[in-house]
Amino acid sequence: MIHYSCDRCGRLIHPTRHVRYVVRIEVEADFGSDEPVDDDHDFLEELDEYLSQPGCDTGEPTPSSRTYDLCADCYAKFIGNPLGTAKASLDFSSN
Ligand SMILES: [Zn+2]
Repeated sequence: MIHYSCDRCGRLIHPTRHVRYVVRIEVEADFGSDEPVDDDHDFLEELDEYLSQPGCDTGEPTPSSRTYDLCADCYAKFIGNPLGTAKASLDFSSN
């Protein structure tokens, strides 16, 4: 039997008594080019020539993806503030 633990708090997530929330995060760079696309231009050939040059480095970061297992409590905290911003985590007193 596979045992999971919460990647945030470390609590054991029982396979039949607890719900395991799987969070998949994928990050990729978007350079947002607004240049019009020339349909007649052979971009594949141009890219092939560029990549065949010695020491070629596109300089672009590769996409990154990660997967996390969360318990119910940590999932509730995550979904309430997925980016972990300070504004969402402020607790105001009643006075
Ligand atoms: Zn947790």
